[in-house]
Amino acid sequence: MDLRNGFDIKRYIRTIPDYPKKGVQFRDITTLLSDPHGFRAGVDELMWPFLRVDIDYVVGIEARGFILGGAIAHELGKGFVPIRKKGKLPGKTIGKEYQLEYGVDRIEMHSDAIKQGDKILLIDDLIATGGTAIAAAELLQESGADIVAAAFVVDLPDLGGSEKLRAKGVKLHTLVEFEGD
Ligand code: AMP
Repeated sequence: MDLRNGFDIKRYIRTIPDYPKKGVQFRDITTLLSDPHGFRAGVDELMWPFLRVDIDYVVGIEARGFILGGAIAHELGKGFVPIRKKGKLPGKTIGKEYQLEYGVDRIEMHSDAIKQGDKILLIDDLIATGGTAIAAAELLQESGADIVAAAFVVDLPDLGGSEKLRAKGVKLHTLVEFEGD
C-alpha cells in the first residue's frame, strides 16, 4: 500500500492487460483523474517538492502530461509549454526523434517557447523505457533550458527509463511504481 497524506494514489490507477498490444500492462491514470480526490492528490503530490523552487515554465508531454502539467502550472502560477507529437504545433518548431519498439516517432516544441537558462519542470503521466522523456529532455537541453526536475505519477523501473533519465543528470520525482511492464 502506498499511502501519501492518507491517500492511496496507486489504488486509483487502473491496469488494463494486453493494451495496446498483448503482454503490455497499461497503467491507466484516467481513473485517478476522474476522481476528485485522486486528481487533486496526484497534482499536489507531483508539485509538492517544487513549491519553493525557482521555475520559469512547466513543460508537459502530450497528452496526459497536458492534463497534469496544466494543473501544476496553474497552481504554481507559472506558464505552460506543450511538447507535442509531430505536425501538431502551428508555429516554427524544433523536434527530436526517438525510438519506438517498431520505427521512430518525433516530438516537437515551438522554437521560441524556451530561452537559454529558463528553468523547467517537465511533466508526464508515466515513464517506461524513457524514450519519450529523454527526447523531451534533450530537446529542452538543446534549447538551453535548465531542467530543474522531471515528475511522473508512475514509474515502471523494470523498463529502465527512470534510471536512464537520471544518468543524463535529470532529477526525478515519481509517485508510484509498478513492477514489470
Ligand atoms: P516511454 O517512452 O517508453 O517511457 O513511454 C512513455 C509514454 O508512453 C508515456 O507518455 C505513457 O503515457 C505511455 N506508456 C508507455 N508504457 C505505458 C504503460 N505500460 N501504461 C500506460 N502508459 C504507458
